[in-house]
Amino acid sequence: MNFDFESDLSVDLQGDLYFMEQALREARKAYEVGEVPIGAVIVKDAKVIARAWNQVETLKDATAHAEMLALTSAQADHGDWRLEGCTLYVTKEPCPMCAGAIVHCRPDRVVFGALDPKGGAAGGWINLLQSNPPLNHRCEITMGVMEHECVGILKSFFRDARERKKNQRQPPVEGEPLDEPLGDAEAR
Ligand SMILES: [Zn+2]
Repeated sequence: MNFDFESDLSVDLQGDLYFMEQALREARKAYEVGEVPIGAVIVKDAKVIARAWNQVETLKDATAHAEMLALTSAQADHGDWRLEGCTLYVTKEPCPMCAGAIVHCRPDRVVFGALDPKGGAAGGWINLLQSNPPLNHRCEITMGVMEHECVGILKSFFRDARERKKNQRQPPVEGEPLDEPLGDAEAR
């Protein structure tokens, strides 16, 4: 896979690993409640100022992606919509909606784990984070941090979801309740 865009490899990898692990913790919370396991944290001056996990099903809100919730929380903490000096860590490459919101909030950097060549908007499919001009902000991108873990949790989630769907097609075992349906979680 060849991503033809700027990627700053000179950053402090130890810090990135630590904060991506924090984002993965958020993704695990999503997994536990049946949400597609994606987590995000926003860091300013080496301190986490916002953390969130994907809550589309919980909030019945298709815009409740981890990044969107983390951005809102960070702006409240920051007392400003401009997140200059901040880095957003997210376990999966942002979608176009989130990338658009990120550009509006102007964090310095975006670090992600799992690449999304089909729908990613940080270089996988398109690159909205570095489309200045015409957009008015440009983020540094570091990709593939803890990629194995970030991809692993998503794969595991969808494998479980497929198993559940398969089991639901069979007659229920007496005394055993059926698992909750996962809706269109796999559409993401
Ligand atoms: Zn998104």
